[in-house]
This record gives sequence, C-alpha cells and structure tokens, in this order.
Amino acid sequence: MAAGVRLIIFGRQGAGKGTQCQRLVGHYGVPHISTGDMLRAAVRDGTEFGVKAREFMDAGKLLPDDIMVGLVAERLAQTDARGGWLLDGFPRTTGQAEALVEVTADAPLDLAVNLEVPEAVVVARISSRRVCSNCGAIYSTDRPPTNPWTCDRCGGEVVQRDDDTEESVRERLATYQDQTAPLIAWFASRAQLAEVDGDDDPDVVFDRLIVAIEARM
Ligand code: AMP
Repeated sequence: MAAGVRLIIFGRQGAGKGTQCQRLVGHYGVPHISTGDMLRAAVRDGTEFGVKAREFMDAGKLLPDDIMVGLVAERLAQTDARGGWLLDGFPRTTGQAEALVEVTADAPLDLAVNLEVPEAVVVARISSRRVCSNCGAIYSTDRPPTNPWTCDRCGGEVVQRDDDTEESVRERLATYQDQTAPLIAWFASRAQLAEVDGDDDPDVVFDRLIVAIEARM
C-alpha cells in the first residue's frame, strides 16, 4: 500500500468521484471523508440534524458553511485521519476552502484533483446511477450487482438516490457551476490543483489519477 496522502477530489455530480474514491482509499490507505455520505447517514438515522439536512439536499441546495466546517473539522480530528485523508464533496465554497486551510494548518493538503467530465455525460450517468443504501457501493443500470438489486459487497438494498431525480440533478449542477467551479481556480492559484480527464473507462481514469497524484508527492 502506498503512503498516506491529503487529497481533495472535485467533479460534477456523476463525474465518477465515488467510484474513484473507493479505489484511491484502497491504494493510499486513508479514510474517505465524503460529506454527502455523512449527511445521508444523518438522514437515515433520523436525527434532528438529519431532518434539516434533508430539506437542503432534496432541494439540491448547499448546507450553511459553518455547519459543514464543524462537521469536517470534527471528522478530521479523529485518529484514523492522522495519516492522511481523501475529502470528497468538501470544500464546496471558497468559505469552506479557507476554513479548511486553518483546520489543516499542521498537516496541509497535498493536492486537489478536478475530475473533469462534460455536463451532458454526467446527466446521463446520474440518471442510471444506483447506490447501496447500506454501504454506499455504486452501481448503474448498465453495471448492476450480480443479483439485482442486492449489493455484491454487503447484501444491502441497491436503490436510486432520492436526490438523483432530473430536477434535483439540474439544480445541483447549477449550484456546482456557481459555487464550486470557482474553487478550481482558487486551488490552481495556490498551485495545488491537478486536472484529470474523467470521461473514460474507470480503470483508465484511476491510472490517470495515480499519475497526477504521484507527480505532486
Ligand atoms: P454529494 O453526495 O456530495 O453530491 O452531496 C449531496 C448533498 O449534500 C449536496 O447536494 C448538498 O445538499 C449536501 N452537501 C454535501 N457536501 C456539502 C458541503 N461541503 N457543503 C454544503 N452542502 C453539502
């Protein structure tokens, strides 16, 4: 297993981040910190926070920065994140990016990777995406689990995400363009950005990611 790294992965919804993150954490032995997964777990648990988070998520809107920064700071303070981490879905705004610099001052980011996939491609991908409601493993109508729709990994039920409806996807892509795309320039201006073409077979994309990351380590 390769040594730990501190990474951020960006990409439009449906760019293949989830699939590539599962591979990257296996390769680097660091925890996958997905704010979307953390929020979905809170929704599933039916906590007061989860009920509020769901309203934002179903509308395709971002949760407030202070809430998200608190959630991520707490997660990064856990012992398994001492040797490195892979952040997925955070930061989503420049406010969150600035807060992350402060929170990680002792052990800063190595690289932010932008997984670039054209919008038309991601819309098609999202409408066919299916996820395990238990462990988050990702499938699609083109690549279903061996026994539809039971997860190969954990036996959980594989379903379509509540926010993968066409209306919500359109709203999320617009939010991404407005609030998250400017972050790509923000990380580039700090010489912390690598651009990776994500419009290819997952194995090919993974090889590209490793080359881009290793070039900066
Ligand atoms: P994702 O699975 O990363 O697409 O996240 C699903 C939803 O969770 C988003 O559409 C937002 O409503 C919310 N969310 C996830 N991460 C963040 C974040 N860093 N800031 C604000 N809202 C977030």
